[in-house]
Amino acid sequence: MDGLRNSLDGLREACGVFAVHDHPEAVRLTYYGLYALQHRGQESAGIAACRPGEEICHYRAMGLVSEAFDAETLERLAGGPGGLGPRTVALGHVRYSTTGASRIENAQPLVMSCRGSQLALAHNGNLVDAAGWRGRLEAEGAIFQTTTDTEVIAHLAARRKGSWPEALAAAVAQVQGGYAIAALTPEGIFAARDPHGIRPLVLGRLDGAYVLASETCALDTVGARLLREVEPGEWLWIDGSGLRGGRLAPPGPRAFCIFEFIYFARPDSVFQGRAVHEVRKELGRLLAREAPVDADVVIGVPESSLPAAAGYGEEAGLPVELGLIKNRYVGRSFIRPGSADRAEAVRIKLNPIRGVVEGRRVVLVDDSLVRGTTASRLVRLLRDAGAAQVHLRITSPPYRFSCHYGVDTADRSQLMASQRQIEDIRAAVGADSLHFLSAEAMLAATGLDSESFCLGCFTGRYPVAPDAAGGAGAQAGRPRSPARSGKVEVS
Ligand code: AMP
Repeated sequence: MDGLRNSLDGLREACGVFAVHDHPEAVRLTYYGLYALQHRGQESAGIAACRPGEEICHYRAMGLVSEAFDAETLERLAGGPGGLGPRTVALGHVRYSTTGASRIENAQPLVMSCRGSQLALAHNGNLVDAAGWRGRLEAEGAIFQTTTDTEVIAHLAARRKGSWPEALAAAVAQVQGGYAIAALTPEGIFAARDPHGIRPLVLGRLDGAYVLASETCALDTVGARLLREVEPGEWLWIDGSGLRGGRLAPPGPRAFCIFEFIYFARPDSVFQGRAVHEVRKELGRLLAREAPVDADVVIGVPESSLPAAAGYGEEAGLPVELGLIKNRYVGRSFIRPGSADRAEAVRIKLNPIRGVVEGRRVVLVDDSLVRGTTASRLVRLLRDAGAAQVHLRITSPPYRFSCHYGVDTADRSQLMASQRQIEDIRAAVGADSLHFLSAEAMLAATGLDSESFCLGCFTGRYPVAPDAAGGAGAQAGRPRSPARSGKVEVS
């Protein structure tokens, strides 16, 4: 079991999902939707599509959306010229996972034959009880084709009687974790969000069609109007008769992943009415208030920390300059497996502008310090480029605990702040000074109820027990006590 758990532990997925029902351009819209969600996963991409009531056709490939699909593949998926007409229902996924799981079998949507029909599944998040369920299902004779936790849901649904939406809702209610799930069947589209709303999922409308997406930026990209977020613990079913839904579990305390605001989401997305860009700017302002410093220029780490750098400079009355240039053709450094590789990636990805930093006291603003690779590397690069001082300011508290709900953050031993005090971290990254934003200020910057977030990576208090067993004895879909955000012990 331990071996199995470990192999699944390596498979956390912080991905993007997108779906359309029912639109003559469903496949093309899904393709553009995935482009907008590319930052959520760059390892593989896939689209499944069908005409209502007919067979599902799908294509998945490793790499970026632009690499995975060519015009011919899209045309084939869309239904091709003439014939039966376009496929009007589509589901797409971009995936990002850790070492070892980077395999085409694990790319999504997973497409399976079951219940005398077909099912395509796409998932963003992590099921904490997947290993337990998998062990039990295998003991009952189930044969798994992938190593993803997503496949557990298909097996659970396959054992259910009744219509697709009821079977899928019952299956999803049996598992625990942080997830946003979208499924395509010939009869319609299913979507669900975990009872704490840890991972995001929004519902939109375009020309009478329904659109589902991990983030609102994808709705904007295809010209869809935001209707609302899928509620925590809610499931939806969209078919020819419209939209209906129900609950997986009674409404639990909301525990939205704060890291979506800090780093993960695109700045042009909006969660619970709060624009990510504005929250990041406010994080920077509060950071400047908490940790002012005598300096000449503020530089943000591109691109996720540029809004926070703008906020810091505004509050501190310091000029904000573009001092680091990002090569936009290199993927996010985290995605690379080994740490030597990651250090190399930082160098390939970011280069300082000597004229901006030479002889100046620099405030370097970044959104997070996880393994510390980026910070160490950038402090050195800035000094090599002539910076007189480098003051590191981080818009989140020390990242001390692993995420169990879909953000890949390695195990605790690799987290720089997990065993070190602030002064040791400062020395390790070579900065002149270092400050992490307090949890209180981070929560205040969101402008939302401070009790409504998952802060597991900062506090180690998780809304869903990370070691849930699954299977017999598991409390199906019942929300557990939330990660309390009140008194947060972060230094
Ligand atoms: P590290 O270099 O390991 O300390 O990671 C921190 C840097 O990576 C920061 O510049 C963040 O913007 C970025 N980052 C933080 N979390 C993630 C993540 N889950 N995936 C990719 N990049 C991340």
